[in-house]
Amino acid sequence: MNITVHILLGSNQGNRENNIKSAIAELKHEGINVLKISPFIETKPEDAPPQAPFINAALECETNLHPLALLYLTQKIEKQLGRTKKGDKSPRPIDIDIAFYGDKVILTPELTIPHPSVTQRRYAAGLLAHICPEKIHPITGKTVKILFEEVEGAR
Ligand code: ADP
Ligand code: MG
Repeated sequence: MNITVHILLGSNQGNRENNIKSAIAELKHEGINVLKISPFIETKPEDAPPQAPFINAALECETNLHPLALLYLTQKIEKQLGRTKKGDKSPRPIDIDIAFYGDKVILTPELTIPHPSVTQRRYAAGLLAHICPEKIHPITGKTVKILFEEVEGAR
């Protein structure tokens, strides 16, 4: 277990809280070491067609999986928990996004790390500020706490 990763979870379909808890259980079951779990918060959809509110949470984990292997694992868990559509911003029983993968920067069509929501979405920065306020965003060089204050101020 050598890489610390941060994961964002969201659900706005079905039993939202159970879906988030099931995703955490599946990650553990698949050998991901879950170190910290943020509070669960209810959020309004940002940048999406009108739809039901979300429950979101963030995790700090450790893994030996390479970035793409981790992405494929999260996508397998999304499917297991009933996610059928991807990439169309439609309501979803579960969304699992990789916010940070250690200090790595990855800019490929399949994987963008850090995930853009960290600097763009209030809920994402806010949840991460609960579990890793001093974590430095490897592109901006700013701490998560500062990024949260900035995205708060931009509203
Ligand atoms: P969103 O989470 O933005 O609503 P989706 O969950 O539908 O979007 O995923 C769309 C695509 O985003 C996925 O097929 C995946 O390849 C890509 N993606 C890019 N970066 C990441 C990341 N850091 N974590 C998860 N998915 C990512
Ligand atoms: Mg996603």
